[in-house]
Amino acid sequence: MQFRDFSLLVRDTKVRGFAEGLERGELRASRCVGCGAVHFPPRSDCPTCWSGEFTWEPITGTGRLITYTLIKVPPRHFAPDLTQRAPFSTYVYAPTAVGLVEMEDGLRVMGWVCGVAAQNLHVGMALTPKPEVLDDGRATIVLKSEGC
Ligand SMILES: [Zn+2]
Repeated sequence: MQFRDFSLLVRDTKVRGFAEGLERGELRASRCVGCGAVHFPPRSDCPTCWSGEFTWEPITGTGRLITYTLIKVPPRHFAPDLTQRAPFSTYVYAPTAVGLVEMEDGLRVMGWVCGVAAQNLHVGMALTPKPEVLDDGRATIVLKSEGC
């Protein structure tokens, strides 16, 4: 089960700059030109002043895990290739964690947790959100531990 098979499909929206940042290895928040509010995930229109103009600001540093969930039966794009297994065999999936970290400035970033076994996950642990570009050119967000 790999996070590498999942991607965000936002290329054809007003938040295209977000996808372009991911492809360059940069995680970005949107800053409203009208009122200065910062949003992540980026918004296509500001919920405060309704401006549709934004600048992009990189999200850097380490956040603290505030919640997570374990996916025990992954969606198809996370599932291993089962065509190679023997008839009547069973396959036990390793749980995959999806977490939410809070950055120092209060922004919250959700992503696939990388490098931490499910039994070692705990609220408050430090994780660094980073974009990952997949083999097919799409991108996703990963929350990396120091060992990842
Ligand atoms: Zn605004």
